[in-house]
Amino acid sequence: MPKIEVDPKLCKGCYLCVKACPKKCLKKSDKFSKTGYYPSEMADEKACIGCAMCYAVCPDLAITVFK
Ligand code: SF4
Ligand code: SF4
Repeated sequence: MPKIEVDPKLCKGCYLCVKACPKKCLKKSDKFSKTGYYPSEMADEKACIGCAMCYAVCPDLAITVFK
């Protein structure tokens, strides 16, 4: 099953990935990161199809996709 990880140390909370995901898998976290942002996080892991759109739009290379 495909899976993604968001690195909260790199994420700057722009939510481009949230908007780009065709399956609406990602959401804004309610937890503040150590770097002072609300990072994105997985909202629906099972819906992920591994398309890597989130990875492609992230300007901070904060997302890793595992296929
Ligand atoms: S696109 Fe990258 S920096 Fe922006 S919210 Fe998503 S993971 Fe964070
Ligand atoms: S790999 Fe595709 S389906 Fe999975 S979270 Fe990223 S954009 Fe959404």
